[in-house]
Amino acid sequence: MLTGEDARGDRIYPDTDVRFMKGVGPKKAALLAGLGITTIGDLLYSFPRTYEDRRNRVTISNLTEGAAAAFKGRILSVSNKPAYHIKGKKTPLYVLVGDDTGAIEVVFFNSRYIDRMFTPGREFVFFGVPQRNRGKFQLVHPDFESADGDADDAGRPIMPVYALKAGLTQKDMRRWHEAALPAVRGAEEYLPKRVVEAEKLCGIARALKDIHFPADRDALSQARYRLVFEELLLLQTGLMRLKLGRESGQKGLAKTAGGSAEEFEKLLPFSFTGAQRRVVSEVFADMASDRPMNRLVQGDVGSGKTAVAAAAVYRAVKSGCQAVVMAPTEILASQHYAWLSKLFDGLLNVTLLTSGASAAKRGAVTEGLADGSIDLAVGTHALIQPDVTFRRLGLVVTDEQHRFGVNQRIALARKGTGGGDGRGEGIFPDVLVMTATPIPRSLAFILYGDLDSSVIDELPPGRRKIITKTVTSAKRGEVYRFVGEEVAKGRQAYVVAPLIEDNDESETTADLRSAESLTDELTKKIAGRRVALLHGRMKQHEKNAVMASFVAGETDILVSTVVIEVGVNVPNATVMVIENAERFGLAQLHQLRGRVGRGGEQSYCVLVMDSDSEDARARVKTMTETDDGFRIAEMDLSLRGPGELFGVRQHGIPALRLADLARHIRIAEKAKTAAREILSGDPMLVKPANRVFGDRVEFLFRDVTEVGL
Ligand code: ADP
Ligand code: MG
Repeated sequence: MLTGEDARGDRIYPDTDVRFMKGVGPKKAALLAGLGITTIGDLLYSFPRTYEDRRNRVTISNLTEGAAAAFKGRILSVSNKPAYHIKGKKTPLYVLVGDDTGAIEVVFFNSRYIDRMFTPGREFVFFGVPQRNRGKFQLVHPDFESADGDADDAGRPIMPVYALKAGLTQKDMRRWHEAALPAVRGAEEYLPKRVVEAEKLCGIARALKDIHFPADRDALSQARYRLVFEELLLLQTGLMRLKLGRESGQKGLAKTAGGSAEEFEKLLPFSFTGAQRRVVSEVFADMASDRPMNRLVQGDVGSGKTAVAAAAVYRAVKSGCQAVVMAPTEILASQHYAWLSKLFDGLLNVTLLTSGASAAKRGAVTEGLADGSIDLAVGTHALIQPDVTFRRLGLVVTDEQHRFGVNQRIALARKGTGGGDGRGEGIFPDVLVMTATPIPRSLAFILYGDLDSSVIDELPPGRRKIITKTVTSAKRGEVYRFVGEEVAKGRQAYVVAPLIEDNDESETTADLRSAESLTDELTKKIAGRRVALLHGRMKQHEKNAVMASFVAGETDILVSTVVIEVGVNVPNATVMVIENAERFGLAQLHQLRGRVGRGGEQSYCVLVMDSDSEDARARVKTMTETDDGFRIAEMDLSLRGPGELFGVRQHGIPALRLADLARHIRIAEKAKTAAREILSGDPMLVKPANRVFGDRVEFLFRDVTEVGL
């Protein structure tokens, strides 16, 4: 238990309500609650966003571009009359701040609550990174606090800077954190003693004090290391325990009866790459075991995952089971169906089931799956409707897995447990999850804990590097001339836009291009060429027809929204133009680019963008610098944060407060090793040495029901 006394001599505990603290009334308490802080413990665990090093305090004339610094200044003037008006945007607030050496402009874009504070003549301490914008020196959205009574904490060289909510100030937060500190005195260590010693971690009491009020950088980095390690260890231990629980009750079916990799490879029109061969052997080893396979196959776009999945299907069916291949879109499902039914022609009974299917077709398919006459069903989520049952489902492949909700995947994995004549009762199918959005090692670690994973880290031979260029819309004429030339050589092109149609009413989309208007534009510009339009609001059969015509080479230019994002494979397409590239995420851009460069010809990706937003620039810069999907995924993760990707939150996995998986991979790996050691000696975490730790794991994972599959 953490106990301590606050300044007034009252005892405070981690579970003490923050409202018992001086200066926290109902209003402030509600604001704190909005930050997830209701108890002293929450307060202690809401770590600073950054720190202000008071030793770095400078004068305004000494500010330098790009270097974080703090300075004290007086409000000279406040204006919300901007130099130019941005359509549809709120007017920013411009505050001119000066000291004896000079003045600087401070800009706030959302000024709803702060303009009242900035009355000319008042003094504030600002903390931020000066930038140069259109030649002018600026500080955008700095942290700031009133400099009244600035002498109070003059003794502290490094001050915490907290995330705030409108109505709270740094001063409030610092005062409350100070007041909460006594609660850490005598804190009981959560982590097993052996781990603390082996990893040379600093104790919990010191870590909690120093993360807020470090005496120096050294103390801060020790505190941070300890808390990051703690977070990752708790996370990893919790995930591993879930996996142990999941595996203990599950039985699968050993698939050893037939279908060797060599036999399968003879069906292919090419030979496997080394990486494909290795991954197939990993998959087959899993399938030969009577524990259900749970394997993630990652491979960059074009690395040939479909052929690996097909090998697994072959093995499953040759061993007397049925298999399912599930894709997130109908286009992709149809393409898989086309390829797989051709590959297995005369060998397996392959069928397609999508939500567009007629009632009669649907009836025939469900019957064939239930009586076992269908060996392989390819489809979308239509495959996981309750009326679909299997006679003997042995393998579930999900392609582009992150597009599915976790519940959909669970539903499919459970299909193996019921079924037809009851022969499948209690037997779980093997599960193969494929993704072309390489999941950074760090994120795979969160999502899948100890899930087995294979990587296809080699492209089929003969591929050429895609040439990627960024241009402004002033160059669009040239871009489409180039597209015309490629098409004249017999190649095909994709053009992607963020909107389906022009929508003049919405200000936020006024500057965006639409697939419809582009189709018109290109039909005129590139005369005599067949331009087709594809978007998500079209009827399924229309989409299929458009896609089929592009695949068959009957369409030269396909203008679309992101519906072509995943999986579509047309080796003759050599140009990908992405309009308003600033509107697409990094992983998405990489996916789109992966639609070209699939054949032997030189391919190109052109990003059209006028935005000068820093994030958008970072994304296109990464795109032009690298085509390594894993690097791009890591960048994407660090630009967006893990919570946004793939809906980590929906699993109920505790949020990380301090650990950044893009940066702390080495610590994560150490934590994983430590977690494995702890659990191997005490799987239930009931030994006295692990009890406090076990309680904490239990508490953090209280909302988690299912993870991964
Ligand atoms: P992805 O991993 O993006 O799903 P696909 O499975 O669609 O990639 O494969 C991309 C293309 O490469 C397809 O045309 C496929 O037939 C081809 N391919 C796959 N493996 C090989 C290989 N070993 N040698 C040559 N071509 C291959
Ligand atoms: Mg694919």
